[in-house]
Amino acid sequence: MNSSLKELALFGGHPAIPKEYSFKERNTIGNEEKVAACRVIDSGVLSGYVASWGENFLGGNEVKSFEKDWEKAFSVKYAISVNSWTSGLFCMIGAIGIEPGDEVIVSPWTMSATATAIIMWGGIPVFADIEDDYFCLDPSKVRPLINDKTRAILTVDIFGQSSNINELRKICDEHSLYLLSDTAQAIGSHYGNNKTGTICDIGGFSLNYHKHIHTGEGGVLVTNNDELALKMRLIRNHGECSVEKSGIGDISNMFGGNYRMCEIEAAIGKCQLLKLQSSISDRQRVAKSLIEGLQNLKGIQLPKTRPNCTHVYYTFPIILKDKDLFNKRDIIHQALISEGVKGLARGYVNLIDLPMYKQKIAFGKHGFPWSLQEKNKVNYSKDAFPVASHYHDKALLNLEICLYEYTKRDIDLVIASFKKVWDVVELL
Ligand SMILES: *Cc1c(COP(=O)(O)O)cnc(C)c1O
Repeated sequence: MNSSLKELALFGGHPAIPKEYSFKERNTIGNEEKVAACRVIDSGVLSGYVASWGENFLGGNEVKSFEKDWEKAFSVKYAISVNSWTSGLFCMIGAIGIEPGDEVIVSPWTMSATATAIIMWGGIPVFADIEDDYFCLDPSKVRPLINDKTRAILTVDIFGQSSNINELRKICDEHSLYLLSDTAQAIGSHYGNNKTGTICDIGGFSLNYHKHIHTGEGGVLVTNNDELALKMRLIRNHGECSVEKSGIGDISNMFGGNYRMCEIEAAIGKCQLLKLQSSISDRQRVAKSLIEGLQNLKGIQLPKTRPNCTHVYYTFPIILKDKDLFNKRDIIHQALISEGVKGLARGYVNLIDLPMYKQKIAFGKHGFPWSLQEKNKVNYSKDAFPVASHYHDKALLNLEICLYEYTKRDIDLVIASFKKVWDVVELL
């Protein structure tokens, strides 16, 4: 073995980050949240919801007040809290009223819940490939997939910035489709002057741990549309079963469940919302230092921000651009982990790789909902998604900067680890 390779911790050398060194986990929960949670506990009312029509159908005081704060902060007509963003996605797809067998175009690079929300209503997720630079749905790949079964485009603002929402909006307008967004990872980022997630028909956010702000579990839907807001509130609270006295006209087929947020989470959410901007600024600080420190490494592409947009860096995606590096991605990853880099993932979720899509089986054993399609025509084969598959299988190293606080020293050590590995990368 070449002697300079032996310097790498992977081959027995001293790690760039000493074994006893520890990265502090990010924590935005402080005294404000403690006081807020205790206020609710002292009141004795841990949930203010009632599942029959009336004032409390929309939740208790903390939930309503939290939603008001959110409407103001995001400049939207309606913010609708839910007990997770997975629940939020379910309410979103229910609200647009699809028929079983209808299609929704969605990104394969997302957390599984984005696509299962479609399946839960009997819809069929139709994946379109992602963009080279920003990893969101590629509008040019969306167009050819539209047919008379298509009802919506559900875009994912992945890793911390908006999709190409103007282009997607144009496509939706041309074909009378709903434009929906999963902005779990890009909360508080901007597309032009607007907050990401607020300029589609329905958008929304996760309040799960590791997202920019959190309430334990939770999520928030946003919309400016009266009818969609009402439907999502119905689905959140047992749907048509509970509103016979409401006087609402067409609520047939509006089944729902219990996707309601508790008062404690809402009270914590109010405090967390006030910390959103500082959480974003802090991650931008980390990303800026990483970009400065890593920009001279050969053969890689660091995160780029879409023109006229802002990036809030849920993660820090690094793409191996140089052909010579593709087959080395996994050993480079191993080498970096051995140097002591924490929270570095290989690739992202590529939903087409999941057994559910490979086999086209979700409900029961007979392939529902795909069995509703002629000849199971939707294409989930890997070669239909060259960018998503190549990046996932060979080219992406994703530093999950949501996990740690990243002091200046932490960042310097991460940069030193990358430099050390890149010094000998040709020999690996
Ligand atoms: C976190 C996340 C979700 C799920 O949110 P939960 O609140 O955990 O249910 C969905 N989509 C994306 C893109 C996410 O990052």
